Amino acid sequence: MNRSIEFWQTKVAGLKPEGRAFIDGKYVDSISGKTFPCINPATGKEIAQIAECERADVDLAVSVAKRRFDSGVWAKRSPTERKTVLLKLAALIQDNMEELSLLESLDMGKPVEVSYAYEMPELGGYVQWVAEAVDKLYDEVAPTALGDLALIRREALGVVACVVPWNFPLDMAIWKCVPALAMGNSVVLKPAEQSSLTAIKLAELVKAAGVPDGVFNVVTGFGETVGAPLGLHMDVACLAFTGSTEVGKHFLRYSAESNMKLVWLECGGKSPNIVFADTENLDQAAKLAARVFYNQGEVCSSPTRLLVEEGIHDDFVAQVIKYAKDYEPTDPLDPNALMGAMVEDIHTQRVMRYVETGKTEATLAYGGEQVVINGSSNFIRPTIFTGVNNEMRIAKEEIFGPVLSIIKFKTEAEAIEIANDSIYGLMASVFTSNLSRAHRVSEALKAGTVTVNTVDMVSPLVPFGGVKQSGNGRDNSLHAFDKYSSLKTTWIKY
Ligand code: NAD
Repeated sequence: MNRSIEFWQTKVAGLKPEGRAFIDGKYVDSISGKTFPCINPATGKEIAQIAECERADVDLAVSVAKRRFDSGVWAKRSPTERKTVLLKLAALIQDNMEELSLLESLDMGKPVEVSYAYEMPELGGYVQWVAEAVDKLYDEVAPTALGDLALIRREALGVVACVVPWNFPLDMAIWKCVPALAMGNSVVLKPAEQSSLTAIKLAELVKAAGVPDGVFNVVTGFGETVGAPLGLHMDVACLAFTGSTEVGKHFLRYSAESNMKLVWLECGGKSPNIVFADTENLDQAAKLAARVFYNQGEVCSSPTRLLVEEGIHDDFVAQVIKYAKDYEPTDPLDPNALMGAMVEDIHTQRVMRYVETGKTEATLAYGGEQVVINGSSNFIRPTIFTGVNNEMRIAKEEIFGPVLSIIKFKTEAEAIEIANDSIYGLMASVFTSNLSRAHRVSEALKAGTVTVNTVDMVSPLVPFGGVKQSGNGRDNSLHAFDKYSSLKTTWIKY
């Protein structure tokens, strides 16, 4: 089917997004009755009113989730039974891709077609992969002496709270909630206040798939009034967070001040991308370097510091600028859009302040302006700075927008030193056609993931996460299950 801009506009006209929280299998208003508006950043128009939950709603959701966990209604089902339910969820996500991608786009500004054609199918595949894995995980028997039997089994933790950001609202929610559910936990999900719609819709699909009432709950609202009470709650056993490093540190404190709950953090990044002159396909490297503008640059793992070897610097920068032009901001409902709107006005202003800082620190090589589309000025042209050094703010701080800082280097050792000189360590990339160099540099880079001759690779099969102040623990792959279970040892004398 040809999904034209008119096709999506017609869908928008018929859409009535649900804005209530979801507790104990039902959509509910906040206890106070308060709501807050959900604004489409690409038009400035209100899309829905969202339930403004607070501590009392969190207490209710956690107590329901704990009661259901203790009852065993989900936790004591066999892994194969849980698999069957989660496979149904994967199918429901596939069936609802149109609505989910539209909600995602209206809520946070991303191009709807990118979400529909790439992100949603991958997400359905991710849920399917987790579901399929859960009844293939074997536990262990330790190699003890004869007469002793030591069984080592994974056990669900209890109530897992998931607090997620707005840049990939449904992906981040599913990356946390689905493996947590697969392990038998009960879940309370808190979406970002900027992007609640797909999390709310997910609740309907989780229920339709057959997850018992109260096992999956969504509490909408703000960080300080919903996120903090979850972090501080005595009955939350595990807190899985994706968001900024600053808020990640709050969760470590909340845990220390309450019940020492497990805290898993996926936080910020300022990923380096090193391009050596010996790279065979420099044109492809430039095209991939420009992927920094994907999702409006609102990507934690984006290669935002581009390190280019001196000899190829000027030509390479010209190529990156050529590909940056493909990301000209466009109405997110236009199926050809590669770059949509920034998530909200406050964030647009924050990114533009960094652009202004960049103009005083370095050389603006491309972009640097806001663009007005459909009356909204939440669009920023891809922006490239050259002449950057690693001490500048635009090289050190996470901007979380379409801003690329290009740094020139002379030697391999210098490139590694610059790349590692960051408080973050989420991802790093190297472009080279020298095999030894590829291995040598990959080993030296301090990051959770290193990509060679490509950027920003993510798959359900492969762990994703950071070192240093980018966080701990890993989403995706079988390692994700480690976050949502603990090991129970049983000694038996015979
Ligand atoms: P944020 O940290 O401001 O918010 C994330 C979540 O935390 C939201 O749900 C928010 O309501 C909640 N929150 C905010 N303040 C809180 C507080 N005081 N106590 C408890 N909860 C609170 O992040 P954001 O602006 O939504 O997202 C952007 C950030 O997310 C960037 O730093 C980005 O790098 C990071 N991110 C990281 C990854 C990763 O996998 N490493 C992925 C996506 C985004």
